[in-house]
Amino acid sequence: MSLRLYNTLTRRVDPFEPLAPPRVTLYTCGPTVWNFAHIGNFRTFLFEDLLRRYLEYSGYDVFQIMNLTDVDDRTIQAAAKAGVVLTKHTEPFTQAFFEDRDYLRIKPAHVYTRATAYIGPMVELVQQLLDCRIAYRSEDGSVYYAVGKFDTYGRLSQLDKRELKAGARVASDEYAKDNVQDFALWKAAVPEDEKVGAAWDTPFGRGRPGWHLECSAMALTEIRSRFGIETLDIHAGGVDLIFPHHENEIAQSEGATGRTFARHWMHGEFLTVEGTKMSKRFGNFLTARDLREEGLDPAAFRRLVFLTHYRQQLSFSDAGLRAAQGSVTRLGEFRDRLVLAARTAKADLSAGNELETQFRAAMDDDLNAPEAMAAVFSFVTNVNRELDAGAGPEKAAGWLKVFDRTMDVLDVTPRKAAVAADLAAWVAERIAARQQARKAGDYAAADAIRGEIAARGIELEDTPAGPRWKKRDA
Ligand code: AMP
Ligand code: ZN
Repeated sequence: MSLRLYNTLTRRVDPFEPLAPPRVTLYTCGPTVWNFAHIGNFRTFLFEDLLRRYLEYSGYDVFQIMNLTDVDDRTIQAAAKAGVVLTKHTEPFTQAFFEDRDYLRIKPAHVYTRATAYIGPMVELVQQLLDCRIAYRSEDGSVYYAVGKFDTYGRLSQLDKRELKAGARVASDEYAKDNVQDFALWKAAVPEDEKVGAAWDTPFGRGRPGWHLECSAMALTEIRSRFGIETLDIHAGGVDLIFPHHENEIAQSEGATGRTFARHWMHGEFLTVEGTKMSKRFGNFLTARDLREEGLDPAAFRRLVFLTHYRQQLSFSDAGLRAAQGSVTRLGEFRDRLVLAARTAKADLSAGNELETQFRAAMDDDLNAPEAMAAVFSFVTNVNRELDAGAGPEKAAGWLKVFDRTMDVLDVTPRKAAVAADLAAWVAERIAARQQARKAGDYAAADAIRGEIAARGIELEDTPAGPRWKKRDA
């Protein structure tokens, strides 16, 4: 079986077919850098990390673009409130986002596009839409997209006309427009924009980009210049972006290029607290740095997130996090045991086949991480049983390989275990070297190695079943 992914456009789980395999172009809507991202935002970024890593595991060559929204209503308001220019306000939050991303072991995108660095392409896109009369200028100097000119508007969100109207009203476009559904591409400059340096001169007036325009212009610029294409393989974000953000991105991009903007649209569900979406607005939020300050192992948060399928709401709780911590500790201990048992043996690659098969079957089925995780834990139970019964080092080495491959995707072993595992691997290697020296009759070398091992706080004991070691009590 090969990879199948739910596509919001078709409302089905479809076979995943990129435009030009093995390349996969992936655009993920990034954070608005007006403040610290909360762990709800990071749930979405972790779903995208899982997607990216599993595509790579499956042999695809992924190119991921993530934007940083550094000019929009929220960033401008926040900068004005702080009394600084826009970039001065957004840059520290951008850096904080990168730190949090690394803490949560999210693989960096290949490129991070800051909206303010793409004003040129945004202006060109608006001009193009004006030239073909899909866009119009209003009396207040803003430019709007005439939704009625785009036949398939509403296809992604499948909202009927009545709902579209309601949605358009809540979108924060408070300028004059012909039709209530129309949305702003370019917003005429107001004093607050000028105050923070968020206004640019263009042939159609001084102002700043609308949020939706930003993603279309950045995505198209990147894939055109790098690959000569105008169609993304996958576009992803949280479910709240389906309408109006992604609907509008499609209208703008396809209105200009006449080509499909993205083949697969993927949306992650919300992280909630007691039934309510986590949001700055509701005050029910935690940031990644809060978790870090509490000394939480990022593996535990990853485990918690992947324990719920990305299309289901994830209800966050401290109890859930504590349980996740227990599980990842168990995985760490298991890995240490495997490293020790494997010593330097050559891997028996048939060992672990079952895990590989089950892991793939789960993940191929629309990234079913909860099932993949269950497969990992039943593997842990079975392998522990076999190790208890005296399974040999070749098998252990094979199991370790397969286990590590699944961890390349899930990445849910504790960091502390990684250090211990490095030590265990080193000890195993030294013990093998010592055995070799003894076999060759070089007892001086063997003793020197024993000394080296002792110097790292390890006690070595020669038993009839071979050497055993343990860490000396501190
Ligand atoms: P923003 O910084 O508001 O532009 O949002 C960044 C990403 O986080 C978007 O993809 C949102 O859909 C997503 N997001 C916002 N709130 C939540 C939440 N409570 N749970 C999951 N994803 C969220
Ligand atoms: Zn976007």
